[in-house]
Amino acid sequence: KIAQFPFVRELDGFEFDAQPSLDPRQIRELATCRWIAHGDMVLFLGPPGTGKTHLAVALGREAIRQTYSVQFVTAATLVAMLAKAHDDGVLDKQLTILARPKLLIIDELGYLPFEANAAHLFFQLVSRRYERGSILITSNRSVGEWGSVFGDAVVATAILDRLLHHSTVITIRGDSYRLREKRRSGLLQ
Ligand code: ADP
Ligand code: MG
Repeated sequence: KIAQFPFVRELDGFEFDAQPSLDPRQIRELATCRWIAHGDMVLFLGPPGTGKTHLAVALGREAIRQTYSVQFVTAATLVAMLAKAHDDGVLDKQLTILARPKLLIIDELGYLPFEANAAHLFFQLVSRRYERGSILITSNRSVGEWGSVFGDAVVATAILDRLLHHSTVITIRGDSYRLREKRRSGLLQ
């Protein structure tokens, strides 16, 4: 089993009242895992602390309960893995390994800008999985900013073209849940 979630979270523990920009029905639909059966994509976009990783982990755990294979990786780790494989001359083998899980969750895309070759490596991964296996991406950057995240507008467009073809894009607005909790307990005004 290769999931490697950063923490344990479930949909049951998610307070939808705290995040009114989310439609609970849309999240419950994702929890059926039909999109994974179809090999579709999911994007969670929004500022830090709004529950993107919580939802990604909860959906990943639900997918495992429904016997799908799941791998969770941060964008930074994924790009480092691809760059190392490329340098070692084993990129194709690494792409094959990363194409295996039925759901690949890529967390925190956009926190760090990509190195020069990383956009091309990421593109190859998305192409390899395209119409074979689902990808769930979380990002603090809107898709309009992905050109600057990838450092290459042409490659970013090609990546988005594949990701958005059969996809659900969920944009979360609002305040960080962590800060909200702090405010409540009087630690912040
Ligand atoms: P993001 O990935 O968007 O930066 P996280 O998913 O890591 O945010 O959320 C930050 C913390 O707050 C996590 O511990 C998460 O479980 C919790 N959290 C965020 N939103 C909610 C929510 N609506 N209900 C319950 N817990 C939440
Ligand atoms: Mg996160």
